[in-house]
Amino acid sequence: MFGYAGRILKIDLSTRSYKTESFNEAFARKYIGGVGFGIKMLLDEQPPEIDPFDPENPLIYTVGPLAGTMAPTSGKYAVFAKSPESNFLGEGYSTGFFGPELKRAGYDIVVIKGRSQKPIYLWIDDDTVHFMDASHLWGKTTWETETIIREELGDYYVRVATIGPAGERLVRVASIINDHWRAVGRTGLGAVMGSKNLKAVAVRGTNDIPVADIEGLREHCKELYEEMRHSSKTAKYRTLGTPANVLALNKAAALPTRNYQSATFEKAELVSGEYLNEHFIVKIQGCDACPMRCEHVAMIPDGPWKGTTARIPYEPLMAFGPYCGVDRLEGVIKAKELCDKYGLDAISTGIIIGFAMECFERGLIDEKDTGGLDLRFGNYEAMVAMVEKIAFRKDIGDLLAEGVKRASEKIGKGSEEFASHIKGVETTGYDLRGLKTCALGYAVSRRGADHQRHGSYGHDLSGEVDRFKVEKGRGKLVMDDEDIYCIFDAMILCKFSRRLWNYDRIARIYREVTGLPMTGEEMRKAGERISNLGRLYNIREGLTRKDDHLPPRVMKMPIPSGIAKGSYVSQEELDFLLDDYYATRGWTRDGIPTLEKLKDLGLEEYAYIVKPKLKK
Ligand code: SF4
Repeated sequence: MFGYAGRILKIDLSTRSYKTESFNEAFARKYIGGVGFGIKMLLDEQPPEIDPFDPENPLIYTVGPLAGTMAPTSGKYAVFAKSPESNFLGEGYSTGFFGPELKRAGYDIVVIKGRSQKPIYLWIDDDTVHFMDASHLWGKTTWETETIIREELGDYYVRVATIGPAGERLVRVASIINDHWRAVGRTGLGAVMGSKNLKAVAVRGTNDIPVADIEGLREHCKELYEEMRHSSKTAKYRTLGTPANVLALNKAAALPTRNYQSATFEKAELVSGEYLNEHFIVKIQGCDACPMRCEHVAMIPDGPWKGTTARIPYEPLMAFGPYCGVDRLEGVIKAKELCDKYGLDAISTGIIIGFAMECFERGLIDEKDTGGLDLRFGNYEAMVAMVEKIAFRKDIGDLLAEGVKRASEKIGKGSEEFASHIKGVETTGYDLRGLKTCALGYAVSRRGADHQRHGSYGHDLSGEVDRFKVEKGRGKLVMDDEDIYCIFDAMILCKFSRRLWNYDRIARIYREVTGLPMTGEEMRKAGERISNLGRLYNIREGLTRKDDHLPPRVMKMPIPSGIAKGSYVSQEELDFLLDDYYATRGWTRDGIPTLEKLKDLGLEEYAYIVKPKLKK
């Protein structure tokens, strides 16, 4: 095959055995790669309704057909498992160099099942898999682990995806880190890895990745590189990066602040991309095969945390900044650094601490719980200390490590009303109360609260629609966004280049790399198929319409000030949006794909999931 390695590596940690299987072109064209491969394998390899920490929960690594080629922004990989946060689909993506290395080793998919008796790491060395003792790595940070593994394998080019102390302790917001600070962040996949006693996956590949039409691909990539370097459509990423969002969202009253108590932050200037750039950014770098180079690396120049470095995109900046009422970028940078080292989802960790700060201010928890920390909004030193407590499950960090949903259920006393999550996964950096198309996208997102499964805030913030209203047609906007985002995640292309692509262009590069026939319409259909596949997985694991919800604050507490003052999403509005979306998708009013829809998408083999629901 061209582009694809054409092989699945299946590893059983319990028996320390492995085998490879191959897949054919029909499978490749139907599921494309990345998310398509990931959900398909999860449906087929995971017994239904198991606990996420059951050894039979497979941890699945996938790459896309472009990984390892010259195609720009394609150096990504994805990880899937049943999520210990949501009990639905666990799904995360990371950039860097790990994905292309996995492809060069000869695999598009790696399925890891079972549980090792003792801590181990996997050493995938082309065709050979070694089960390496990791006793000496247990307890080490992600950074230490990566360095030690490279040293002991004696090869700088070994790429390592590893968990930190948080994953070892089954913290439900634990991440997997590769290439120092790139994270598979969301849905707690680091905890699934920890539950298998699997500290790390190291990979080195020496195979070429042949492409079908090298001349055509070269010409196309030249165009793409030019556009990525010079187009106004990618300018934001080349200049300030995503931290540019802080001031824009503050102006739009869409910046989640102090645990969603407000949508504007009076100190936004002090945590803006502009301020960060001027005072802290020391390096701008990029991932494999990316001319956009959006990664802004910050360093604290002085004070007690002098020398601390971290990559600072918008989302963790929001979570450790406005969301916690913090106006000191030193605190944000230090908190992010600890998340990378300990292996924590920086978005969820910030949202959890913002929740705990409100609990503290309301007297629901006190200094006995926090181990002496004065956990008020704005106390950046306490925030940083709490990151450590969550990673190591110390004091109330042990409860917070369960995520905001489970923590609020335990704390009670009304705290559930200000716990900000969807399907158990903490919210991200868009205040949904005044972004109603986006709110629908979040409500139906298959991996819980998420801007990256649809990007529907774009319609609201650009003025393309009236963002304060609900009306027919929003379901179509979200569906179309989700389907093309599925293709970005299948190929896997960085979404920061999304404005340069459409289905026809994606199909073109797919043909150039793989040599397989593919039209833009077939690509669109594959996106729709993958969206439905995600829905089927979640339905099989117990999802119903009531799980397509929004946090209580979004539905009950109007935005108190700013341009969006008074805005919120009522239950009536959410029901209207869901009805419109389900109908547009060809699903029932309960959000179940019909048998006709499955036939249309070639997913009849999963009719067993929907048939019992359709009878009711
Ligand atoms: S735009 Fe940024 S995140 Fe995306 S591939 Fe390039 S450097 Fe990586």
